[in-house]
Amino acid sequence: MFDLPVETDTFIAELDAAVEAHLNWTRRILRCAVLRSTPGEDVLDPMAHTLCHFGAWFTASRRDFEALDAQAAQRVETVHQQAMHDAIRSMCTKVMAGQPGLNSDLDAFEASQAELISLLANFKTLILSNAVRQDPLTGLPLRYSVENDFALYQKEARRNRSLLYVVMIDVDHFKPINDTYGHLVGDLVLRHVANTLKQGLRIDEPLYRYGGEEFLWLLKCKSAEEARKSARRVLASIGTTPVPIADDETLRLTVTMGLALAGEREDLSSAIRRADLALYEGKQNGRNRYVVAES
Ligand code: GH3
Ligand code: MG
Ligand code: MG
Repeated sequence: MFDLPVETDTFIAELDAAVEAHLNWTRRILRCAVLRSTPGEDVLDPMAHTLCHFGAWFTASRRDFEALDAQAAQRVETVHQQAMHDAIRSMCTKVMAGQPGLNSDLDAFEASQAELISLLANFKTLILSNAVRQDPLTGLPLRYSVENDFALYQKEARRNRSLLYVVMIDVDHFKPINDTYGHLVGDLVLRHVANTLKQGLRIDEPLYRYGGEEFLWLLKCKSAEEARKSARRVLASIGTTPVPIADDETLRLTVTMGLALAGEREDLSSAIRRADLALYEGKQNGRNRYVVAES
């Protein structure tokens, strides 16, 4: 099992609660049809779709849904409002007036209820599959997404005649931190390293948590000198940003990096292997440094 980030957990719980609240509407419609009792003003109101629990939550979370799948988010709104609430209102109004409801309204309600549930189930799958690609400790993407991004950046570098480096970054002497201060402090240190690295990188230079205390960075630049400059900047930012681990205690950290300039048609696995060898060389030569692999 994996741990979901807290916000994902909450979002899923809200999604489940909202769906359940909506399914309750079916019960209210049934009671209205059988007992001729009013289903409640929130059903009969022309703005019922904004009054129900699901509608209010969906409107407030609209941006999150759009970020996941804008088209499906639009469809949820349409199905929920027009097909579902309008059909329910029309049916209940007729029943309350002592007339039989329309077949077409019932069909519309049933179809839209089924579509809404299925759209929301798809959103749930999407949220969960995104969550497993993200490291719950640092919030960074995990290595599964590197392959895809690498292929895109490699193509872009060929087109722009620019360079793409695969950079492996490994925290120096991390195990003694765990051994001395405990695993929780080790986790805190990893989060700190991830944040410090992330702050120093451009938005289009993704950083992944590759393994335990190893990070992978896709570095885009115009020249070998620029790559070296970026590497020096990363070393400096880690070196000058100690981790606060207690009220009056901070830890100084260093990292070692291996850089491999990706060949125009080179596989990611080959570039990673070369970056790893360069990293190993950096460790052998005293750590807190970067080494550029032979092309
Ligand atoms: P080096 O300078 O050669 O890189 O030595 P190191 O001690 O950093 O490297 P080593 O590979 O010996 O130890 C890495 C440790 O990272 C071992 C493992 O228990 C720890 N680790 C891996 N993942 C996590 C994690 O998520 N949290 C914590 N706290 N520790 C982790
Ligand atoms: Mg390591
Ligand atoms: Mg290490």
